[in-house]
Amino acid sequence: MRVSTTTSSRSDSRVFTVVVQGYGTALTRNAERTINVPFSRLQALMQSISQLGGKVLSVSAASDAPAPAAAKPAPEATKQAPVKKQAAPVSHAAVPVNLYKPKSPFIGTVTENYSLLGDGAIGRVNHITFDLKGGDPQLHYVEGQSIGIIPDGEDANGKPHKLRLYSIASTRHGDNLAGDTVSLCVRQLQYEKEGETINGVCSTFLCDIEPGAKVKITGPVGKEMLLPEDEDANVIMLATGTGIAPMRTYLRRMFEPSEREKNGWNFKGKAWLFMGAPTTANLLYDDDFNRYESEFPENFRYTKAISREQQNAKGGRMYIQDRVSENADEIFAMIENPKTHVYMCGLRGMEPGIDEAMSAAAAAKGLDWSELRPQLKKAERWHVETY
Ligand SMILES: Cc1cc2nc3c(=O)[nH]c(=O)nc-3n(C[C@H](O)[C@H](O)[C@H](O)COP(=O)(O)OP(=O)(O)OC[C@H]3O[C@@H](n4cnc5c(N)ncnc54)[C@H](O)[C@@H]3O)c2cc1C
Repeated sequence: MRVSTTTSSRSDSRVFTVVVQGYGTALTRNAERTINVPFSRLQALMQSISQLGGKVLSVSAASDAPAPAAAKPAPEATKQAPVKKQAAPVSHAAVPVNLYKPKSPFIGTVTENYSLLGDGAIGRVNHITFDLKGGDPQLHYVEGQSIGIIPDGEDANGKPHKLRLYSIASTRHGDNLAGDTVSLCVRQLQYEKEGETINGVCSTFLCDIEPGAKVKITGPVGKEMLLPEDEDANVIMLATGTGIAPMRTYLRRMFEPSEREKNGWNFKGKAWLFMGAPTTANLLYDDDFNRYESEFPENFRYTKAISREQQNAKGGRMYIQDRVSENADEIFAMIENPKTHVYMCGLRGMEPGIDEAMSAAAAAKGLDWSELRPQLKKAERWHVETY
């Protein structure tokens, strides 16, 4: 066994790569697996491998970056303030990508499909879970990734439908914590064309699907929305509609008691979710987020923009960018801290409004957002996935 954990600076923020054989489901037991764990979970993983009769082939430091200095109170912004780069959010090399491709997709089985909306909500949004058991390799993923779905049937040219991507809404352990399911949050696309209602192909296929049905799944894909490993990171989340999917994975990882027990990740930073929806009935996973806020008031803040029910300062509809403007000082103070990451997800149309709000807030502090944003992006602290 090769063991390399060189460097003098050990801290919980470092990630280790463990190569193991004989550890996993029956189908993958003989395969060599690479597992990445934060230092804080390394010992527990070793114990689990030993208990299940696995053989550790090597352990090495996936990221030798020393832990960043402890968070300091945010200083007053200055024009010269450089955007500091945080250590890479997670070791990208360790993130699973394209385990299943469109030519030979994994066939998952639907276990649940239920509406996430309250009475009187606009449209249709469902939470759908697929069983991933029996894959070789096992289809696994991390928070912030997406999977592809290939809907049954053919397109107008008689060809099989192309895949559509969906952000994963469950943590890597799945909603059942068994590590063998994946969940999505899907809005049915519907629009009017020449007096006719057109239903989106894949979103309708998914919203209508029954438990027990088999579905072609590809992926996972995506490294843009990965969560930092640092337990002291701060995470600002800007979501509209189904853009909540990756945020749900982060928040479950941070605050859901059973998930925390499973992942051993002791989040100590500040998480702030801005959620935009047209009506209260359209808020997604709202009860869970309210519960996290009451159980972890020091670590989680939940700010809602409900456009058809709330008014902004000008008396117009309250959109997410209005909430960003209202809280601009605090948001900017957080962004000045190199441990802060911002995540934006939802319909592409949300981007200009957020940009406008950030530009105005930056200008009030003598900063130029058009210069600052690329710096944050380069520092891997500004994460956007819109569609
Ligand atoms: C990285 C990523 C993550 C995503 N995550 C999610 C997610 O978590 N949840 C989710 O619900 N979706 C998500 N999507 C969107 C998803 O991939 C599909 O695009 C969406 O479900 C629509 O697919 P469909 O097959 O139902 O629609 P299609 O049948 O493919 O129809 C879409 C097409 O309809 C046309 N169209 C759409 N609106 C109109 C309009 N108003 N007027 C005229 N024509 C129009 C456009 O040509 C458009 O390309 C994500 C997309 C990406 C890229």
